[in-house]
This record gives sequence, structure tokens and C-alpha cells, in this order.
Amino acid sequence: MPDRDQLLEAFTAGSLLRPDPTYMNVVDVIRGIAYACGADVSPDDHAKAIAGHLRDARHVILVLADGLGVNTVDGLARNTWLRRRMLRAIRAPFPATTPVAITSLATGEYPAQHAILGWWTYLPQVDAPATVFAHKRATDNRSLDGLGVAVECLLPGLPLLPRFTRDTALIMPAGIIDSAFTRWMAGDARRIGYHGQSEIVAATVERVRRADQPTFTYLYTPMPDTVAHEAGIDSAAAADAIDTLDAHLEAIEASLAEIRGGVRIMVIADHGHLAIDGSARFEVRDDDPLAALLRVPPAGDLRTQYWHVKPGAHAKFETEFRARFGEHFLLLSAATVDGLRLLGPASITPETRARLGDYLSVARGAAALRYAGFSGRDGYRRMRSSHSGLTPAEIEVPLILGGSGFTR
Ligand SMILES: [Zn+2]
Repeated sequence: MPDRDQLLEAFTAGSLLRPDPTYMNVVDVIRGIAYACGADVSPDDHAKAIAGHLRDARHVILVLADGLGVNTVDGLARNTWLRRRMLRAIRAPFPATTPVAITSLATGEYPAQHAILGWWTYLPQVDAPATVFAHKRATDNRSLDGLGVAVECLLPGLPLLPRFTRDTALIMPAGIIDSAFTRWMAGDARRIGYHGQSEIVAATVERVRRADQPTFTYLYTPMPDTVAHEAGIDSAAAADAIDTLDAHLEAIEASLAEIRGGVRIMVIADHGHLAIDGSARFEVRDDDPLAALLRVPPAGDLRTQYWHVKPGAHAKFETEFRARFGEHFLLLSAATVDGLRLLGPASITPETRARLGDYLSVARGAAALRYAGFSGRDGYRRMRSSHSGLTPAEIEVPLILGGSGFTR
């Protein structure tokens, strides 16, 4: 059976989730927030529902809890803040990974339009994969700035936050507060760095308390993602990190309970997590027979990859890929990816098409695969949990609503 049909069969069986605009997505959340915060967006029904939750709130806080999937929230104790405030499940954009989802948050667009397709995204201007957040060419770690590639070239979407009419601020770890990506996302909005998770409460509460106008605050936390990769999403270490985050969010809510005008604290995630099958952890090295058929190293992520194949080598590549990885990965042509609208409800742009290459591969189960030449190889070999695929554990993320000054 062709891989396209096997994918459709997996969608029907529910082992993989078909990207479908009928379900509320992270993109709808940011569009609804943008609408409520005065930006020039036209909201659909999902975005209007989000804006409805924020109605009349003087202060809106969006918390992005990296890697917090629905099944993780469902597994928490009933008395946790996250469980008590959970509204419903929504979906992450595909591929379910941080640069893709955060670029969707930054632009209000799906990957089909914003053209960020994974942790490593092929960039025609340097004819190589780029590491999106580091703003570097992934094959030699040279700065894209030094190669003459401006951040707007890597990120062709239009940033949304600078179009908010509210007093807008971003609260992020100090290590990334001045990155090219963060600066692009923020525009002229205020950027506030924090040094440890314990600082997120004071940073958020002070920012809102000091404001003399209605505000929007975006708070990013790398928890539980960082711990989940290392120790596993179901580990005691990940549970501790989530408990700490839960306590911090409850503390933010309690500290802002008396603020005039009402506060909404909306919590979402960029993707969930899936435990990796250690016996299905693969690498493609430069001396690999598959690599000889490629124009450039495979880009993408650990459970979704993009392949740029040499002219005339397509049939051979398909045969070899399926012989090597077919048990664990589906191989889909770029036309199939676009036709099934896997990257968003609208057709892909020419820029996205150029970055996608000839094929996309996506994991059937719990496998992982990466190009061995990128930095971070040791971390990959230790990695217990991952994401970027289409399983429910990766795609389903929570929509959580807390705050004060409204009836629940
Ligand atoms: Zn991650």
C-alpha cells in the first residue's frame, strides 16, 4: 500500500492525528488573543471563542509551557492548578516542535505560510539547513548574519505582537531574551529576562502591577520540555518540574487576584511529548548510502524530516529509504504534503515549497531519526522523549484558563 494511503489509514485508526482546522489550534489561540488585544486580524469562530474568554480583562497573560501535552495534564493530581483550570484539548501545528509553534504564535500563521518547518529548516539562500533559534547554518554553525541572511529572510512572516495596541511585554529566559528570533518576535515590545524558574512569578506579577494601562504579557517557560527530553516525560524529574510550574502559576494568579479590571491567565503548549523507542533511534551519516542521493543533509526534526534529493535519484531514494526506514517512517512527496494540507489549512507558499524539498518523512510510532553531522549528537543519543510527529501525545495540547475578576 502506498505511504499516502497508510497515512490515511493511521488517521482513521487514530494512531496519528490528521491536521484539521475543525479542531481548535494554537494558531486560533494567538489570533483570538491578537483580536482581543487590538491587532488587525480577522478572527474565525475559534479565534472569536478565545477572544470571548478574554473579554473585559484589563490584563491578559499567555503562558507557553514548552512540551506540556494533554495526556501529561490529564495525569496530574485533580487538585493541581493546571487540572482545575483546564478548559479543553487543542492542537499544536504540525510538525509538533518549538520553532514551528512559536513562529505560529509570533505570526498567527500556520507553517504552510510562515515557512519554519522544524528545529532545522532548509534555507535556499545558504543551500543548507539552518538552526532556527540559533540563527546559524546547521552544517558549520556559522552565523546567518555573517552569511548575509537577515532574520526577516529566515522568518518571512509578519510579526503579530508589535501590532497589538496594548502595552505588550515578553518574559523569557535571559539566555534567549536578546536572540535574533526573540527580537524579531517582539518588535518594539518590552523584553524581560529571567534567570531561573523561581523568578517567573515576581517578573510577571511586577510587570502587571506596575502597568497603568491594559496589558498583554507573553511568558515562555522551557519546562517541562528540557527535563522531559533528558529524563523522559513520565519521569519523577519531569513530574517535579511540572509541580513547580503548577505552584508558580497558582502564585501568579493569587498575587494578581486583587488587581483592578480583571486578569486572564491562558496557558497553552507548543507540543506534547512521546517516549522514544530506544531500539528505533536512527542516524544518517555522511558515509551513508542514502546521503549519496541527497543534495543537502536532511533537515526537519527528530520525528519529521525533509529530504532534498539529487536530480534523477528520486526512484532510487524512495527504494533505499523504504528499505532502511520504511518500518518506522512514512515517506511522503511534497505534493502529498501540500495536497493533504499537513502544514496548515491553506496551500503552501513558494518559500515553504522551496524549504520542504522533495519528501517529508514522519514517524509511524515511537522512532527518532537525525542527521549525524548536526551538533547535539550526544544529547540525541541520551534522549528519552521527543516530539515533532503526528501522534496524539505530540499534537494534543491543553487550553487552560485562570485569572481573576470573572465568573468561571
Ligand atoms: Zn523539545
